[in-house]
Amino acid sequence: RLDLLAHCVSGPLLVSHGPHVRWACGFSGSNGWLLLRDGKAHLLTDARYREQASQQVGPKVDLVVTQDPLAEALAPLVAHHGTLSVQDACLTLAQSKSITALVSGLTLHATGDTVERLVAVKTQEQVDTIVRAQRISEAVLEQVSGRITVGMSEQQIAAELVYGCLRRGAQRMAFEPIVASGPNSALPHARPTERVWQSGEPLLIDMGCVVDGYASDMTRMLHAGVPSDAFGDAYDSVRAAQEAAVVAAKPGADAAHVDSAARRLLQAAGLGEQFSHGLGHGIGLETHEWPRLSGQVDYTIPADCVVTIEPGVYLPGLWGIRIEDMIWVRHGEAERLTNTPADLRIV
Ligand code: ZN
Ligand code: ZN
Repeated sequence: RLDLLAHCVSGPLLVSHGPHVRWACGFSGSNGWLLLRDGKAHLLTDARYREQASQQVGPKVDLVVTQDPLAEALAPLVAHHGTLSVQDACLTLAQSKSITALVSGLTLHATGDTVERLVAVKTQEQVDTIVRAQRISEAVLEQVSGRITVGMSEQQIAAELVYGCLRRGAQRMAFEPIVASGPNSALPHARPTERVWQSGEPLLIDMGCVVDGYASDMTRMLHAGVPSDAFGDAYDSVRAAQEAAVVAAKPGADAAHVDSAARRLLQAAGLGEQFSHGLGHGIGLETHEWPRLSGQVDYTIPADCVVTIEPGVYLPGLWGIRIEDMIWVRHGEAERLTNTPADLRIV
């Protein structure tokens, strides 16, 4: 991975985004910059991480432990280069200013999404780790679904999900679980509240956990009692839209085309306006990674990236529906990493 990085830009490259530093050299501390320069890799960190860094990074990486801000440790290493490629989406303005103030004549080059594109491509081992996180989520959702009843609050249900994941060995949740009952399910990013799940209402659960740094992400729907025809029909449409997008998600496909494969079906069902967000996102060391699948982006998706496919429809004040699976984009057929059936679960 260090070699991949060293060859993705000309001249020295500073990787400052924590998950990318981890991807490149294994260091998972909260304060670390990785510099690639003249065929060498240097990890800059502070004294708190001396021990951890020496355990996590291999012998190919030179460890620079400093008491000063990282920019000061960086300065002498890039002093004679003239240019430095930086992650413009991750480096703050203050950090860039302090680097250029310390090294006179240094020009910063923006890497755009160059590093993100490397990180997006997953090995079997990385996918196995994502799947381990996903299997924990699935076991917990299965167990909790069998136990929850109307009359429980969203927060109580969320607490069961978190407890179950940690109990089964997840390091942490990938994000705060979304548990949205009734009209709250029409808010795509609802947070669990004290609202109580009532009979005749849907319940949307969007959850994921982290194992060895890798995240999982899944959304499933429950319903207390038999749903209305309108809800049932919309559910079938969302499910069909999701299937269409999974089929369209081939290596080299336009991300916007994959999005529209799902969107077209929902438009045909009269629900196009209600699908108010993008189709999905890459996932790995971060819950949301490159590539984004949406009509607004202009790139193709690479082979071997892991993405979510999560169409949804939202009727404000009434209900919302989302179904989210993770897939591994492969030549031939995409590999679905989510095992939990996507049927509406009637409780
Ligand atoms: Zn999700
Ligand atoms: Zn997601």
